Amino acid sequence: MYALKFEKEICATCPSPDCLLKCQYMEFDKDEAHQEMMKLVNGEDSRVLTECVTCYACEEYCRRGNHPYYLIGERREEKGILTAPRAITNQWINMTAMQGKQMVGEVQDTALSSCLIPELGMLGSGKLFEDVAQAITFGAEFMCPAVHTHFAKMSVVKERLPKVIDHFRQLGVEKVICLHDECYGTYTSIAPAFGIEVPFTPIYYMDFLLEKLNEMKDQITPLNIRAAYQRPCSNRLIPQKHRLVREIMDLIGVELPDRTYQDENSLCCAEILRAVSGYRLANDVQQRNIDDMVECGASYCVFNCPACQSTLSEKVAKRGLTPVHIIDLCKAAIGEKELEVTA
Ligand code: SF4
Ligand code: SF4
Repeated sequence: MYALKFEKEICATCPSPDCLLKCQYMEFDKDEAHQEMMKLVNGEDSRVLTECVTCYACEEYCRRGNHPYYLIGERREEKGILTAPRAITNQWINMTAMQGKQMVGEVQDTALSSCLIPELGMLGSGKLFEDVAQAITFGAEFMCPAVHTHFAKMSVVKERLPKVIDHFRQLGVEKVICLHDECYGTYTSIAPAFGIEVPFTPIYYMDFLLEKLNEMKDQITPLNIRAAYQRPCSNRLIPQKHRLVREIMDLIGVELPDRTYQDENSLCCAEILRAVSGYRLANDVQQRNIDDMVECGASYCVFNCPACQSTLSEKVAKRGLTPVHIIDLCKAAIGEKELEVTA
């Protein structure tokens, strides 16, 4: 069985336990944060085990290469502490169970992973993806199991991830372009944290997009719009990739005005929070986030994750913001798609 590689000494000697100090859902002073983290490290009870809402952000806040979020999940599961009602936890396990029905196109050395999200298949099309669109993978057999970390079901992650990786191995691919941050985060953060080998090169779709847009620079017409970016929780697993959003927006003429809930201080779409912590917290997070988008003067809300988009689209549209996925914005900039405007 795979086990989390976690260095106790790194936490014991940590000069600033930012993992918990920066948490947006619990308050600690520096000493408390250190003490609570060491309780987790030592397998003792801690308020974190019952209060953490599973936003993933401490994976970004820890700059010392330890994995506080994965450790919280491990300790919860060891102690039988559920984050959500058992029915919801089990429903997620059942809904994402492998069916032996994965859909695969004509795959050669590079696959285009759409996880288990049909919308990603639609997005991964057109001129930007013309070389790889036929090599799309879809289905639970190719779905990264990171969502189960929200429910502290680390055992499901450890059981399913090697199988998913093996399915890609059976395709014989050398590269997998990940259209979902959660997949790229799984292959580049979760897998190494648990000692699970990844025999292909994961490619983050925004790296792929940026390269394509640079190749097609002469076809870009700047969009000249202002937008607020909705950063997904899973981007916290790959914070080194967050800069790509601004690079792409700069290239296609989209201004991202400063706002309170951006970068390290981003708020997630909160739909998982609804299952984990209830509707009051979820509604509060969504309200603060959307108020902030409106106050910064944005006309568009740009999504990276389709799950965030389906959660927040109607809510942002009611406040006068047009919801749009970052790939559709890129398609609009090269004249392949009309830019919609919320009435
Ligand atoms: S998880 Fe990271 S930030 Fe938190 S105490 Fe350990 S080393 Fe420090
Ligand atoms: S996952 Fe989020 S809520 Fe939980 S401890 Fe980390 S930062 Fe706090």
